[in-house]
Amino acid sequence: MSLPVALNVEALNVFPGSYRQARARFLERVSSCSLTQEQQSYPVSGVLTRPDTVLSTELAWLGSRQAARVLVLISATHGIEGFVGAAVQNDLLARFQEGYALANDTAVLLVFALNPYGFAYHRRCDEKGIDLNRNFVDFNKALPANPGYQDLQASIYQHDPGLRDMEFQRYRDICGRTAFEIAISGGQYTDPDGPFFGGHEPAHGRRVIEHLSELYQLDSRQLAIIDVHSGLGPYAHGEVINDHPLKTPGYEVANLWYGASVTAPATGNSSSVNKQGLLDYHWHALMPQRGCCVTLEFGSYHTERLFDVILEDHRAWKAFDTDAMRDSAVAMQEHFCPRDSYWQELVLIKARQVIQQALDGLRHG
Ligand SMILES: [Zn+2]
Repeated sequence: MSLPVALNVEALNVFPGSYRQARARFLERVSSCSLTQEQQSYPVSGVLTRPDTVLSTELAWLGSRQAARVLVLISATHGIEGFVGAAVQNDLLARFQEGYALANDTAVLLVFALNPYGFAYHRRCDEKGIDLNRNFVDFNKALPANPGYQDLQASIYQHDPGLRDMEFQRYRDICGRTAFEIAISGGQYTDPDGPFFGGHEPAHGRRVIEHLSELYQLDSRQLAIIDVHSGLGPYAHGEVINDHPLKTPGYEVANLWYGASVTAPATGNSSSVNKQGLLDYHWHALMPQRGCCVTLEFGSYHTERLFDVILEDHRAWKAFDTDAMRDSAVAMQEHFCPRDSYWQELVLIKARQVIQQALDGLRHG
């Protein structure tokens, strides 16, 4: 590993080696942080794990419980991406220990491992195969259709990656790249074994978000939501994605707080395409006029490789091919959190900037 050039070598120790280690460190740092006011734990039920592994989402409220302004920092909405999200949370906790101060009337709510199963087993989806970031739809209504996914479903499980790529290329030639990405990743509600499956009921992570929103009366506070993701976009680039609908207050606030670095799928300038059932939509509905919600997405390898590793993961799990599942776990970790100290260093620097922008935005209203 190369040595970081702007941060101390120790700063990169916040990147965990496993979910278990990340959880233990999070709980340890939160317990020793003088700002910690409250902790909550939400275990995942009905999943058999090793006896020494507890699958749970953990919350920590730092600063005054009455604070009018709250930064909510979320990790592992897509389980495997918790390697990066937990590092960002751990880094912030370390900086609080070093004296980084919170402004008056401001609190931080850390949501650790929103999808603990995916984090522990190196998958994007949860224990029910659900992509939590496609799960925030109204299950009392007809679920969104994705005819493109059904067109590509057989190719998705194609064992031969060369053949799969040819079939994908044919689809891109006919329908275009954006339609292809929406077909694969926009969200689908018909194939529980497949990628980007939004589920047929609220997932564990959604129930946690809904509970904590009520518990902390987040609808009555000014909010800055940062949901940390990885694996999409240029290598080591931290993209601040604004999914608020165009011309709404949240859309304008995100542009104001985060400046020219903000991208918006609705304008077509983002690495991300329009998607169904995002966690963002929960916050948009809850958000008072002045707050905003952004995804902080750290790019790694190319989008084709992203699809390759995710599709291979689903193929291996569907076939219960244990050798392929083991290989996939390694490939997933490398794609979503490369073992490259330069990559990791840039992640921490950008995350610190974005957190500072959020706290400044909250302070200035
Ligand atoms: Zn993600």
